[in-house]
Amino acid sequence: MNMNTIKELQHFIDGHLVYGTSPRWGDVFNPATGQLAARAPLASADETGKAIAAAVAALPEWSDTPPLRRARVLFKFRELLERHLDDLAAIVTAEHGKVLDDAKGEIIRGMEVVEFACGIPHLLKGEYSEQIGNGVDSWSMRQPVGVCAGITPFNFPVMVPMWMFPVALACGNTFILKPSERDPSASLFIADLLAQAKLPDGVFNVVHGEKVAVDTLLTDPRVAAISFVGSTPVAEYIYSTGTAHGKRVQALGGAKNHMVVMPDADLEQAVDALIGAAYGSAGERCMAISVAVAVGDVGDELVATLCGRAHSLKIGPGTAPAMEMGPLVTRQHLAKVRAYVDLGVEEGADLVVDGRNLRIAGHENGYFLGACLFDRVSPEMRIYREEIFGPVLCVVRVPDFEAAVELINAHEYGNGVAVFTRNGNTAREFVRRIQVGMVGVNVPIPVPMAFHSFGGWKRSLFGDHAVHGPDGVHFYTRLKTATGRWPEDTASSASFVMPTH
Ligand code: NAD
Repeated sequence: MNMNTIKELQHFIDGHLVYGTSPRWGDVFNPATGQLAARAPLASADETGKAIAAAVAALPEWSDTPPLRRARVLFKFRELLERHLDDLAAIVTAEHGKVLDDAKGEIIRGMEVVEFACGIPHLLKGEYSEQIGNGVDSWSMRQPVGVCAGITPFNFPVMVPMWMFPVALACGNTFILKPSERDPSASLFIADLLAQAKLPDGVFNVVHGEKVAVDTLLTDPRVAAISFVGSTPVAEYIYSTGTAHGKRVQALGGAKNHMVVMPDADLEQAVDALIGAAYGSAGERCMAISVAVAVGDVGDELVATLCGRAHSLKIGPGTAPAMEMGPLVTRQHLAKVRAYVDLGVEEGADLVVDGRNLRIAGHENGYFLGACLFDRVSPEMRIYREEIFGPVLCVVRVPDFEAAVELINAHEYGNGVAVFTRNGNTAREFVRRIQVGMVGVNVPIPVPMAFHSFGGWKRSLFGDHAVHGPDGVHFYTRLKTATGRWPEDTASSASFVMPTH
């Protein structure tokens, strides 16, 4: 390919696009064609430091700006996002590969967080207690934490950053986004929209890069809080390094999400749900269902129906009309997912739908993999224990409800889970007893709305706060509680005992 046609991305620092000065670059491919599409500069520690300096300089004025005025910038940003929905979706599809409608879906889910953050004057209201003692009042407030950084994964290049920065900015913080180096262009489009919405320079910055940039953000004392979303090993590293450097950290990790199909479930509904939740976005969703738990005698019919549906999925480039599944994100990721399918066969699972030989005419170099379905997967197998993050669904058969709950609770991940049943009591027991952060009842992907908080349990989340919703506001603010009195005369003797009222 002619290097002249390859886009060279820039950082966005202090309100301006800035050329990278480090000699290191990350290649960005179009996953539907396999062609090199762009190069992103990989920031050095020094360049990352410049973004931090810009965020530090912008902080005093932005944190002093009344919340209502901060919200007005976000209102404008939301309007611009709506106006440019198609352009932004096209960028997501070109670099991530997901189908256009799905790309629009992620932007809309991100916009909902902006809408939530527009309510910040209300969300920041503190509590007030009058007359806690004679002539004494007490009140609380939430104040910004300072410079915040977001480190985000490839699979939602718009939505995941928007889980973070709208709330962080609304709370009065400044922000540095380090997007995934595999699909970094959307973050620059977002930076431009924020600038058009009149966000002051330096309040939002984008630094491209990988470990060097991330390590600088994790260790620089000027950064107060780190939000991370990505794989579990990296999440653990981010959490331990960031907290060791005195930062507030929320690190969301990987997943292995189960969907339990009870014998009394509406099977057609359950299969519809499973097909979309397992293969949508080529399984590259942290809330994708990757394990179907067939309870009692439901297994044979469930697998037979799933087979038919998986075979007939419409797979192709995300820009083609009516596609249901696009390619995987990179050649390396395709190889990793294929290796898991090979492994499942070696481990003795029954590969009833094999997508490994899929070829898309005209897109032979694209990173496509057909839907894969394993039956009779057992809990010892690595394809059950590990996150695959591709279009691979495993069916585990269990005798009863108790065994389903035990299986799921024993798994190291606890991001999302669902139960399909017609029995209210079964559903209620499931919700109560399951050790997973986000639970669906006849809903396969129970992603909480923006005004609730999103986060898993166990090795799917490190830190005390989930993202967006009330937890997001708490994460990006510090609680201050004041106690005051205005005595008529100032004469009072010193007291050496704990005040009681
Ligand atoms: P990843 O962990 O490889 O990368 C995430 C971010 O971390 C990227 O910005 C990357 O540049 C950076 N990074 C990678 N290795 C690093 C290292 N050694 N040191 C410092 N920084 C590093 O994840 P990914 O492949 O981009 O995304 C897929 C993963 O994200 C899956 O595991 C998926 O489950 C997870 N995910 C989780 C959620 C959630 O809400 N829990 C949401 C989306 C994605």
